[in-house]
Amino acid sequence: MANKRLSKSQFMMGLQCQKRLWLYNYRKDLIPPIDPAQQQIFDQGHAIGELARNYFQGGTLVSADYMHIPEAIKHTAELVSGKTKAVYEATFVYDNVLVRADILKRNSDGSWDLIEVKGSTEVKDEHLYDVAVQRYVIEGAGIKIRKAELMHIDNTFVKDGEIKPKDFFTRQDITKETKELIPEVKENLKDFMKTLSAAKEPDIDIGQHCSSPYSCDFCGHCWKGIPEYSIYDIPRLKWEKKNALREMGILKFRDVPEDFDLNDGQRLYWQVERTGRTILDKEQIQEFLDKLEYPICHIDFETIMPGLPLYDGTRPYQQIPFQVSLHIQDKPGAEPTHCEFLADGKADPRPELTKFLVSNIGTKGTLLAYNAAFEKKRIEELAEAFPKHRKALLALLDRFEDLMKPFQQRAYVHPKFQGRYSIKNVLPALIPDMTYKGMAVANGGDAQIAYLNILSGKLSPEAVEQTRKDLIAYCGQDTLAMVKILEHLGDIV
Ligand code: SF4
Repeated sequence: MANKRLSKSQFMMGLQCQKRLWLYNYRKDLIPPIDPAQQQIFDQGHAIGELARNYFQGGTLVSADYMHIPEAIKHTAELVSGKTKAVYEATFVYDNVLVRADILKRNSDGSWDLIEVKGSTEVKDEHLYDVAVQRYVIEGAGIKIRKAELMHIDNTFVKDGEIKPKDFFTRQDITKETKELIPEVKENLKDFMKTLSAAKEPDIDIGQHCSSPYSCDFCGHCWKGIPEYSIYDIPRLKWEKKNALREMGILKFRDVPEDFDLNDGQRLYWQVERTGRTILDKEQIQEFLDKLEYPICHIDFETIMPGLPLYDGTRPYQQIPFQVSLHIQDKPGAEPTHCEFLADGKADPRPELTKFLVSNIGTKGTLLAYNAAFEKKRIEELAEAFPKHRKALLALLDRFEDLMKPFQQRAYVHPKFQGRYSIKNVLPALIPDMTYKGMAVANGGDAQIAYLNILSGKLSPEAVEQTRKDLIAYCGQDTLAMVKILEHLGDIV
């Protein structure tokens, strides 16, 4: 197996978990198809990569793709010996490792600067290894690297017209850090080749590495024996403790020994799971209900977070609300009235959404959200962006209460919550006939993808129409769910 060739991404897999590397090479059949969320991330990475090339103009792209590596290597060699100012996607093989550098910039002394582009807003540890392995290969292939840099998004950037790469990106010199990692890279490579020469997958247990620094494609394979509501679901339990339980052969939360070191909250969840009994602090729930004033306006936003800002005045990865649903109840038990706003996808959704909020929320009563910090933050941002409505929007903030509180503060713990208190866990336990199962848009992530699909302009008019219906059904369900949960709390106290 000595001739097995690794790509940079396989090197990164090996660093995360050598079992992942082995499975990737021999059990690709276990990799689930790319889901729309991953596709969205890839597309965004692609768009950021293209913008980065404009930072270093006058370069040439090695356009041969992964299916045509010999051509890519040949083209890179021609460009390196020619006069181009920079090579984008420069492709090299050395020591059985293949890398494609985002940008190689030519210097006047014949050396090159290696620039890796990332869509993050900071340098992370894994980025250093990513660039170190590129350096190892490119230098091994005979190219002199003067400087290694990581170019990432500047999180202070605010869009104002066309995005200029020099304003959007910031560059960090990581020459020293990556040089120091090269001996480690060499050792890693030896190790990885040894792993790949084995006939069987390495015996590596599941753990924190399955989701860090990247979520692994083989979780479906390695985690398949883990029962529902396992030790891995215990809220805020440190990995050392999970691993200790695993070593004791304990997998189900209910089987955790009585004397195991759990904090108060974890112990309470354990008791609920063990006894199957619901914890209900009626006094605390009543205190919460007493704070609410009718009319109660149940509110929920849906947002997108584009890395490349779409609208002037917004930052990379800023939460942009594009949809809001309101269910307004005048008095306890009254039939709520529903109204909603969903942007048409043609322009910045925030001005129209702001007008909708100001004209529909009213001036009295409680604003009730589930995880209210999120809704409050969006309103603060809108107030900052639209000074004309600032006063009216800021006045809303003091009227917020959080429907999540009774569950988060463990005044109400149902065995079916399984230690969680998100609305997606609470609702089916308390109101079994209301579920998100089977909905085309069933969570905030789906809503984000659905709206970005509308923005992409790639959907047919019929598909846009259907997607809008799905979004409306989902966001409306979230606020109606809150109405039902509140009614339920009222009933039980
Ligand atoms: S799921 Fe975890 S243990 Fe399995 S290959 Fe991935 S990282 Fe390794």
